[in-house]
Amino acid sequence: DKYVYDFSEGNKDLKDLLGGKGANLAEMTNLGLPVPPGFTITTEACKAYLATGREPDGLAGQIEAHLESLERGMGRRLGDPQDPLLVSVRSGAKFSMPGMMETVLNVGLNDRSVVGLSKQAGGNDRFAWDSYRRLIQMFGKTVCEVPGEEFEHALEDAKRAKGTKNDLDLDADDLRGLVDAYKKIFAKHTGREFPQEPREQLDLAIRAVFESWNAERAILYRRQERIPADLGTAVNVVAMVFGNLGPDSGTGVAFTRDPGSGAQGIYGDYLANAQGEDVVAGIRNTVPLQELEQLDKKSYDELLGIMARLEEHYKDLCDIEFTIERGKLWMLQTRVGKRTAAAAFVIAGQLVDEGLIDLDEALHRVNGAQLAQLMFPRFQLDHDFQPVAKGIGASPGAASGKVVFTSARAVELAAEGESVILVRRETNPDDLNGMIAAKGILTSRGGKTSHAAVVARGMGKTCVSGADELEVDVPGKKFTVGGQTVGEGDVVSIDGTTGKVYLGEVPVMPSEVVQYFEGSLDPEHIDNALVRAVHRIMTHADGKRRLAVRTNADTGADAARARRFGAEGIGLCRTEHMFLGDRRELVERLILARTDDEREASLAALLPLQREDFIEIFREMDGLPVTVRLIDPPLHEFLPPLEQLAVNVAVAQERGEDVAKEEALLAAVRRMHEENPMLGLRGVRLGLVIPGLFAMQVRAIAEAAVAVAGSGGSACPEIMVPLVGAVQELETVRAEAEKIIAEVVGDSGVEVLIGTMIEVPRAALTAGQIAEAAQFFSFGTNDLTQMGWGFSRDDVEGAFFWRYLELGIFGISPFESIDRDGVGRLVRIAAEEGRAARPGLKLGVCGEHGGDPDSVHFFHEVGLDYVSCSPFRVPVARLEAGRAVV
Ligand code: PEP
Ligand code: MG
Repeated sequence: DKYVYDFSEGNKDLKDLLGGKGANLAEMTNLGLPVPPGFTITTEACKAYLATGREPDGLAGQIEAHLESLERGMGRRLGDPQDPLLVSVRSGAKFSMPGMMETVLNVGLNDRSVVGLSKQAGGNDRFAWDSYRRLIQMFGKTVCEVPGEEFEHALEDAKRAKGTKNDLDLDADDLRGLVDAYKKIFAKHTGREFPQEPREQLDLAIRAVFESWNAERAILYRRQERIPADLGTAVNVVAMVFGNLGPDSGTGVAFTRDPGSGAQGIYGDYLANAQGEDVVAGIRNTVPLQELEQLDKKSYDELLGIMARLEEHYKDLCDIEFTIERGKLWMLQTRVGKRTAAAAFVIAGQLVDEGLIDLDEALHRVNGAQLAQLMFPRFQLDHDFQPVAKGIGASPGAASGKVVFTSARAVELAAEGESVILVRRETNPDDLNGMIAAKGILTSRGGKTSHAAVVARGMGKTCVSGADELEVDVPGKKFTVGGQTVGEGDVVSIDGTTGKVYLGEVPVMPSEVVQYFEGSLDPEHIDNALVRAVHRIMTHADGKRRLAVRTNADTGADAARARRFGAEGIGLCRTEHMFLGDRRELVERLILARTDDEREASLAALLPLQREDFIEIFREMDGLPVTVRLIDPPLHEFLPPLEQLAVNVAVAQERGEDVAKEEALLAAVRRMHEENPMLGLRGVRLGLVIPGLFAMQVRAIAEAAVAVAGSGGSACPEIMVPLVGAVQELETVRAEAEKIIAEVVGDSGVEVLIGTMIEVPRAALTAGQIAEAAQFFSFGTNDLTQMGWGFSRDDVEGAFFWRYLELGIFGISPFESIDRDGVGRLVRIAAEEGRAARPGLKLGVCGEHGGDPDSVHFFHEVGLDYVSCSPFRVPVARLEAGRAVV
């Protein structure tokens, strides 16, 4: 097996085998760019090592052969006492895992070759000894697990002895002394001397990189980023070049465009007389890359030329690490660079203009998650608001409110109509009520998968987690940050996209992209690169997609907004809100009715109200299909809670008041009480149990459609029956509904379809039978997930999902993104068997998943006709439906 590739043997498409870094070093080498020579040990070798605990057969020999050819090419031998070749040993997995795995520089230095290195460097002893002490430090820490602080303390001691705080003030003798100190530390912790044999150094460093794949922090990082655990890392062995050889040397990073905005230009930082790790450690301040032009015009021009070449070659924004060794430029790394959501759209648009990519490719380069980010409201930061802290943008949005430190206080203040921000060190399941009540959540601990982050995302609530500059004192009801104290009731603003925290109330405004979707920014007539790019890419997505996109809306206002956002109809109009507010009393009367007359009277009172609701919605969606779902939740949701009612009645009785009415209500609530209401008397079951309820709704829908048609409009209602598990349920409802529809519609020309939700597993599994009675299916993936997994959708996120995510049992909540293997399989079966029974059966989805990017691709693959999602998700679904095609 071939385990080692020279840079000249690889290319950028071999990331699986060579890792990202190795594949791109190979690509640059083959482009003829100045890459220090080297070779890559494959991820296969790493996997074999991790599986067996030893290097695979043949690896040592292949390393030997490649090392020899490297030595020949460089005209130096590894660790040669006179004129040593030194190498770096760097990890490089398929997906970038910044800082998670190991790197060892200066391999090949020992007590003798340090002298040769000094000679090579023109008698620069200081440089040689500094390089040697760096090797012992890095090697000790990463290869032999010597505690890093020990080395740092020794360095501090050396500086203290010298009376300085700056590393650069240590001279060659000081550093030689430091090398001795480091060697002692090494021996003390490892029970052996620092290895002097260069090849042994190399082998141990390679092994350490293999093993770092399974370092705890790397495992954690992979879980969070959903990187598979079995990929392994490649190892790059590269001839060392030095940026710390004097003022004509240095190191830097650069982007070929601004990764923040996408604007063209030169973006980067440079640090003279330094190595890469100094830049990361932030010991000295970097200068803008433009200043390199004054320092070293030749290298600067060459770098710009290379950057242009890389962009042209990769046809994308690249980021770059480089080093200049005594006026000679070396490329140490490149890759297609990370960027913000806005930059992703702008750059994709620019690249199309430049003729580097076509619009299909542009569609690949952006995604729905980025578009969703661009649609969150944002802070208007044109005044002088400076952030006081920066944490992790855990759940996007912009929220301002009064600070509270306990869940109870959050609930109290929210009940008084205040906006509150719940501030905690971290949250736990006890904080759930407070989190629901709060506008936003701010924690000083925890990352993207902390309880706070997961729960907030699940609720769609703004959250900044891990703002560790905050000193949170919950008992003292205050936090301090940057010397300021913020107490309960003080106002803060948090940005869940950037993770920034501001004191005071920062005004909020809709994003430009939302203004564009709303129709208030005309992309043809404004000078806004982002809006123009979004417009262009969305237009292309619309032209490509096969899936239609509808919206979930149950008011005229929502319907109108969704239509502006591109919705092509309503996929789910939930009728339950139409039973709330002033109408609650009518519903109460319906539930308490003891005779047919009483019940019919309350239904008759509800009918015109429902009809008006539907007329409004049909008008807004004129000419487009509107799926109206008959009432779904259990009726007792429209009654007061049992405990509260019981207390009220008891108190009133005590006072001797007349409580006959309340007692009747209480009795009804008791009678209807269910242990598991979500599995109880709801949906179609309710329709079959309460005579006249569904009939009233069907009549209201049909009458509304006829009324709209009569006034010159066009209504296309689709009546949907919820929670069907057996065809017999649907047949019963349908028989009654068809009679009413025929009677109401007459010869008005209005057509009303009758279909069903598929949201009970049994319905999915008997879809062939159900399709005989249904003119369409709409998958209710919320309930299908709930019942498929047996997870209570209202409880799990706070109760235990955070733990499941932490353990990697799933990478994302199955309520957020469709579980393809399980719940998705039910969808697939139902789609296939439904269509087999009734060719052309219309299929849609109206669960939350309809607006989730990954899920949209799944629904495309399964062959649904449309997805339906909340108005703000409509553009996301349009984009992803387009991306699913190209
Ligand atoms: C569903 O279950 O997916 C659905 C859309 O219905 P609801 O969320 O109202 O139960
Ligand atoms: Mg449902």
